[in-house]
Amino acid sequence: MLEISSAIEFAVLKLKVTDIIVCGHSNCGALQALCGDERELEGMPHLRDWLNIASSVKETVAKVCSGFGTEYCRRIAEEENILAQLKNIQTYPFVARTLNEGRLYLHGWYYKIETGDVSAYNPNEEMFEVIVYSGTTTKQTIYRKD
Ligand SMILES: [Zn+2]
Repeated sequence: MLEISSAIEFAVLKLKVTDIIVCGHSNCGALQALCGDERELEGMPHLRDWLNIASSVKETVAKVCSGFGTEYCRRIAEEENILAQLKNIQTYPFVARTLNEGRLYLHGWYYKIETGDVSAYNPNEEMFEVIVYSGTTTKQTIYRKD
């Protein structure tokens, strides 16, 4: 994760980037691995370390998902991971500071590969909403559950 944190630090402090988008996507193999059999991660220590950061996602999915189909659970995991990474990025002191100063904005986006739709997290509604560039507005029906 060192490369990523240095890139963010450089972007925020040196380039004065004002917006950071955490963008997740559908059919995410990494999250499938997270929610799958842990034995499949044998021999992949780096992937396992990365997935440890997202362990809260696994807990949420386990809580929310009993009785739902796999596609729904995958979507929940992919959305929860975006929220977890948004939380994680705020643990960097320089991110927290620039956020407080109103010089930085964080966005959570979800890219649905099958349709090309991009949804943005709306913290007021606590849900992802499809970003519409033209035509009528549609809203996602999957809500975040705490
Ligand atoms: Zn992925």
